[in-house]
Amino acid sequence: MGKIAPGVHVVDGVGTEGRPGTVNVCLLIDGDDVTLVDAGYAGSGAHVAAYFELIGLDPGAVRRIVITHHHQDHTGGLAEAVELTGAEVWAHVADAGFIDGSVSRPAPPPAVVAQMPPGAAQRPPTRPVPVRLALVGGEVLGVLGGCRIIHTPGHTPGHLSLLLPELSLLIAGDMLRYEDGHVRRPPEMYGWDLGVAEETIHAVAGLEFERMLPYHGEYLGSQASEAVRRDLRLE
Ligand SMILES: [Zn+2]
Ligand SMILES: [Zn+2]
Repeated sequence: MGKIAPGVHVVDGVGTEGRPGTVNVCLLIDGDDVTLVDAGYAGSGAHVAAYFELIGLDPGAVRRIVITHHHQDHTGGLAEAVELTGAEVWAHVADAGFIDGSVSRPAPPPAVVAQMPPGAAQRPPTRPVPVRLALVGGEVLGVLGGCRIIHTPGHTPGHLSLLLPELSLLIAGDMLRYEDGHVRRPPEMYGWDLGVAEETIHAVAGLEFERMLPYHGEYLGSQASEAVRRDLRLE
């Protein structure tokens, strides 16, 4: 996808098995201060490295990797990304234990296993990575005019989204998707607490943002918060 807004890039080529480019690992570039948001499945490090080369950016400029939540499609490539960049890892305190390995990840429910793509069962286990900064939500990262870190629980206990008011952009993680011209809730079978997720979506739908980048699906480049309210019937 490449550059979607000033200082915001979606790393080309990161995807799920056999489907390159299907997830949106992104970069926030503010001069020499670079933030990577999520890290893709195991094996994504090569795509991240290639993208840095493509845009002529030194991976060592990445100061932090913000993880929206602990799921393996976001953290499988995290150890590789840390090795590539030397950056520290930030995540919400409620998901940090799954990422650093101090808490075992819950086994996926049978409905999830049944839908896994071929080869997923053979995927290498996600390598634990130390979390340097455990977030709680409400922090503001001083890049691109201020990036608000919002605790958006439900999909996982410690799910985070990022709001960049200057760009009117919400980086939604797995809280919401945008597919086939419609904003959608994520598949229920992947969710931790659907009631909490719904409360979160209602709260976020009360914000105003022009653009939304979900992790799965397409980038929604205009009238995004209106589309959230309309498509999810929250008006
Ligand atoms: Zn997820
Ligand atoms: Zn995901």
